[in-house]
Amino acid sequence: MSHPEFLKLAVPGVRGLTPYVPGKPIEELERELGLSNSIKLASNENPLGPPASALAAIRASASDVALYPDGSAYQLRSALAEALSLRPEAITLGNGSCDVLVMLAETFLAPGVEAVFSQYAFVLYALVTQAAGATARVAPARPRSDSQPLGHDLSAMRSLVGPATRLVFIANPNNPTGSWLTASELRDFVSSLPQEVIVVVDEAYCEYVEDTDYPDCSRWLAEFPNLVVTRTFSKIHALAGLRVGYALSHPALAELLNRVRQPFNVSLPAQRAALASLRDRNHVTRSREVNRAGLRQLAEGLDRLGLTTFPSRGNFLLVACGDQAGHYYEQLLRAGIIVRPVANYGLQDCLRITVGLPEQNEQLLASLSDIMSR
Ligand SMILES: *Cc1c(COP(=O)(O)O)cnc(C)c1O
Repeated sequence: MSHPEFLKLAVPGVRGLTPYVPGKPIEELERELGLSNSIKLASNENPLGPPASALAAIRASASDVALYPDGSAYQLRSALAEALSLRPEAITLGNGSCDVLVMLAETFLAPGVEAVFSQYAFVLYALVTQAAGATARVAPARPRSDSQPLGHDLSAMRSLVGPATRLVFIANPNNPTGSWLTASELRDFVSSLPQEVIVVVDEAYCEYVEDTDYPDCSRWLAEFPNLVVTRTFSKIHALAGLRVGYALSHPALAELLNRVRQPFNVSLPAQRAALASLRDRNHVTRSREVNRAGLRQLAEGLDRLGLTTFPSRGNFLLVACGDQAGHYYEQLLRAGIIVRPVANYGLQDCLRITVGLPEQNEQLLASLSDIMSR
């Protein structure tokens, strides 16, 4: 096929961009290998699925989908505001929190300015920075021998903040490493930043974290007008397929984001389901318990297999597999189990495994044991 002339006309940020690589969908695996009953432990989805109340809300919304959703998502934003003791004006909804990250980049990044983030930080930060044509300043991660192996090194990040810095991205906990930051270290970092540098703390997994020294950064918004906290309904709320996330910020920053936000970026079923799942505290508690037990089950099982796992506060584990990561990934696929290669992060020797139901975790461990003994 000919090479269309317009390729070179794409803006520079897009020309050099590599698209986001999602976890392999179950249907694709089953189509390719003729399998059935496969399991996916690749995208940090909640294995319990959404609460019954959210499913009922989705079904009930079906008859209304001829209508546009409420573009301002009044009900969902009010409910979130109440739950978080914030004003609705502090909340910007996104089509997943990735959408909010894109809005932040569109609002603050352009050629000639910089975004700072850590090596091994969630890949979307690099993607949105490059798409905006801005420059990424990537701080080396903490070493593997650290108490937070591969985690964010806040002082290395701080030293990259300069006059051209517009955004700093921090994932707490981080995906794919599972590493996290304590309240005191993160607070010191945020306090040390110039007022005009926006710091985005991505709390996609915050509901899973039980440590008493883990910060709920939404509590700091009144003090730091340059702080943005992002969260999602994709992870513990189990609505990844519906795409709902949000940013919490100073209302003036929310007003800026609202200028670039697509008018109807969160669908009608998504708004209703998110509202229902927000109210279902029991489901969140149960999901946290299942995850806590599953993390332990996987960590102990992988340790018994002689593999090194990294401490994680998310619903996933990063596991070092030496030069066998690619082989294990392929062989697990043949056994009907999808995990996540993370070579795109520069972690060629690792796999990321999402915590499943107890029997799924067991199936993963048994298959892996089998593959390793062949
Ligand atoms: C999964 C994830 C998100 C959430 O993505 P959504 O667009 O809300 O589905 C955001 N940040 C991190 C670090 C994640 O792992």
